[in-house]
Amino acid sequence: MAHIKPIVINKMSELSENNMYISVYCESCEVWRDIDPEMLIEDGLPDVDYVQAVFKCEDCRAIGQNQTRSHVAERQSLFMPH
Ligand SMILES: [Zn+2]
Repeated sequence: MAHIKPIVINKMSELSENNMYISVYCESCEVWRDIDPEMLIEDGLPDVDYVQAVFKCEDCRAIGQNQTRSHVAERQSLFMPH
């Protein structure tokens, strides 16, 4: 019998371990920016809850909308149009 363990990801370090990263969308600039969780880990923030994390736009300082993305899923959908 197969036991499927759900993956619970809350922290930057867990994002990184699961080949995931954050993309932040700024509505006013209409720009997506990718946030590498490794960067935050190197900054000493591996335990930051990425759901609570707030990323501001570099240009207009507006608070962006976070979206988590998976490197693995993207590799598997290379032939899909974005
Ligand atoms: Zn902006």
